[in-house]
Amino acid sequence: MLKDLFINMTILITFISLITQLLKNYSLEENNSFSIKMFFGFLSGALGIILMLFTMPVDANTIIDFRNIPIIMSAVFGSALTVYITGIMIALFRLMFFGFNTAALLGVVTALINTVGCWLITRAAFKTWQKWAYSTFFVLFASSITLTYLLKDKSDFLKIMLIYWCSHALVSAITYWYLYYSNTANKMYRRLQKESTKDFLTDLNNVRQFDLLLNNAINNALQKEEHLSLLMLDLDFFKKVNDTYGHKEGDYVLKELGKILKNSCREFDEIFRNGGEEFSVLLLDCPNAQAQHIAEHIRHNVEIHPFQLSNGKTINITVSIGLATYPDTLKDIGKIVEKADNALYAAKRTGRNKVHT
Ligand code: GH3
Ligand code: MG
Ligand code: MG
Repeated sequence: MLKDLFINMTILITFISLITQLLKNYSLEENNSFSIKMFFGFLSGALGIILMLFTMPVDANTIIDFRNIPIIMSAVFGSALTVYITGIMIALFRLMFFGFNTAALLGVVTALINTVGCWLITRAAFKTWQKWAYSTFFVLFASSITLTYLLKDKSDFLKIMLIYWCSHALVSAITYWYLYYSNTANKMYRRLQKESTKDFLTDLNNVRQFDLLLNNAINNALQKEEHLSLLMLDLDFFKKVNDTYGHKEGDYVLKELGKILKNSCREFDEIFRNGGEEFSVLLLDCPNAQAQHIAEHIRHNVEIHPFQLSNGKTINITVSIGLATYPDTLKDIGKIVEKADNALYAAKRTGRNKVHT
């Protein structure tokens, strides 16, 4: 009995490790794509099926298993699609693998009732651990009714119920604990990954990413003998915005600028906030004439954009842009940043709100 309990726990922990590892880039609770929901539901269903193959004998005629735990898991940490896939997989397997009889039919009905019940419980505004606990209680209650009906020899009824409830509650609690901490660890992982690559204000790439992606782009351009263009951007008289309207409004302007840049560049261009009010754009495989066109498009879009401040006032702001293109405007690709920076200063010196090559 203890040996079987241990085997079931091992299967559960292995599967949860696998699921949380495979889906570590996705928040299970959030509205994920159709395929992620399906995948989570399918893995949970597979776990339920494997658990049904490792049943625990309670006495000579009765066996129990932990198939309901994946249903609880899908309901608490997944979506409607996830839990229904899990429930239906378990129900179908019960019917197809163990033969068609009263016990099988009751097994199917119980699995479906548990699926719907857990899903409804997890829709309520409970805390996560409460959802898990109430769902566990629900499946125990529903499954006990079926078990009672199926038990031929009622002499050991209390003993069997006691073992069923205690082992299920224990396994459920350990599973929750492991799943909860794996999920939390994944959230931390995603946050750290994002914070190490993204600028918190604009959600553009940060300066660390600039060094990394620039190096990759340089190697790529040399290897494939492609063009590489770099834009360096700096807002004009931005200090005035801060001084006149406050730092918070300045931050809003920076965020809006991030959006304008995203809308003005090509899908695959890399956009960065290098710090303060300085931005850059890496234009991959882009000759100088095309880069000038994109830079002018950005400059124009910033110039015409009405920045709506929180007091209702609308202000306009302009940007100066320095452009360098390998091999069109410089031969040593290692100096592309220096060249674009110099072009930016030239744009500033010669009147601002312009693109300089
Ligand atoms: P120029 O046209 O010569 O670029 O003038 P400028 O005023 O834009 O340039 P300057 O370098 O003098 O000022 C940049 C200002 O950017 C100074 C600083 O207050 C502001 N700044 C830097 N980082 C941030 C930020 O994260 N948020 C806000 N609101 N302001 C910032
Ligand atoms: Mg500056
Ligand atoms: Mg500036």
